[in-house]
Amino acid sequence: MALGRPSVLPDRVPTVRDLLASGGRSFSFEFFPPKNEEGERQLWRSIRELEALRPTFVSVTYGAGGSTRDRTVDIVERLAHETTLTPVAHFTAVNHSVRELRHLVGRFADAGVRNILAVRGDPPGDPNGDWIRHPEGVLYAEELVKLIRQAGDFCVGVAAFPYKHPRSPDTESDTEYFVRKCSAGADYAITQMFFRADDYFRLRDRVAARGCETPIIPCIMPVTKMSTIARSEQLSGAPFPPDVAARFEAVADDPAAVRRLGIDHGAELCQRLLDEGAPGIHFITFNRSSATREVFQLIQPAALSA
Ligand code: FAD
Repeated sequence: MALGRPSVLPDRVPTVRDLLASGGRSFSFEFFPPKNEEGERQLWRSIRELEALRPTFVSVTYGAGGSTRDRTVDIVERLAHETTLTPVAHFTAVNHSVRELRHLVGRFADAGVRNILAVRGDPPGDPNGDWIRHPEGVLYAEELVKLIRQAGDFCVGVAAFPYKHPRSPDTESDTEYFVRKCSAGADYAITQMFFRADDYFRLRDRVAARGCETPIIPCIMPVTKMSTIARSEQLSGAPFPPDVAARFEAVADDPAAVRRLGIDHGAELCQRLLDEGAPGIHFITFNRSSATREVFQLIQPAALSA
């Protein structure tokens, strides 16, 4: 099979689970709900441009506030109705009772959305603040996975952290809870973004050593500006790899050269991950299509097929 979609579409919307089970590789793009009309136009331009690459799925993040949340649901519904894309709805437990969570799952089902990424969510305002459970809500993503599973025939993804989750005291317990989340019914996982392939392989080995075979899709964000490197620890949970940073610093005065290097580095990273068996790549797009398209086009066609 060439890219992420079955050549003969079944009469129901294919899931990420179907694709991974068939040995295919998954290529996906992540968007966030924009704050204003210009952002909305930019989002739909990017979606249309990336649609041509026939990704396996596109995902839409879920914010902490009320209106952002509604926008996530609106975008996912529109993706399902007006495009050829398979949407994955991110879904968090923040400030939701179990009743509200079930209602939201029902809305996705009504819109024909069968793919949900279950993440606990960050506390609103300060991502590093205390995580407070809704009095009638759930505490961990593991419970969200169970709730979605009980609600119907959904394909459920979860989050994985190459450098452990910042709240986990150590890698050991982080791996243990990740495996529990998978055993609760996750079909696949997507990682936090990272910039060095070995960090992904170490995560994969830790999980495999515990007998867990849930496919873990690496998440990549091409560097297009020096400021991304400055923010990378906040975004990925680990310092930017010094050897890669040195390559960027050598061209730091030339924004076009930084961008070119970012595309090349992104493509090298994807290529190594795919060559060493990663089940696909999830790209963070920040609602822009060009850097992702350029990286995608540099990846060897052989690596894209199963
Ligand atoms: P959990 O799996 O619940 O883990 C949270 C912490 O609790 C970890 O330290 C874990 O080890 C620990 N833990 C888990 N189970 C137990 C247990 N039974 N007992 C004790 N400790 C336990 N955030 C958003 O707000 N919106 C999004 O759309 C969004 N999308 C994301 C997509 C991806 C691919 C990733 C990697 C993250 C995303 N996030 C999003 C961020 C995510 O919500 C936060 O990182 C959150 O803090 C953790 O989510 P989780 O699902 O991993 O939580």
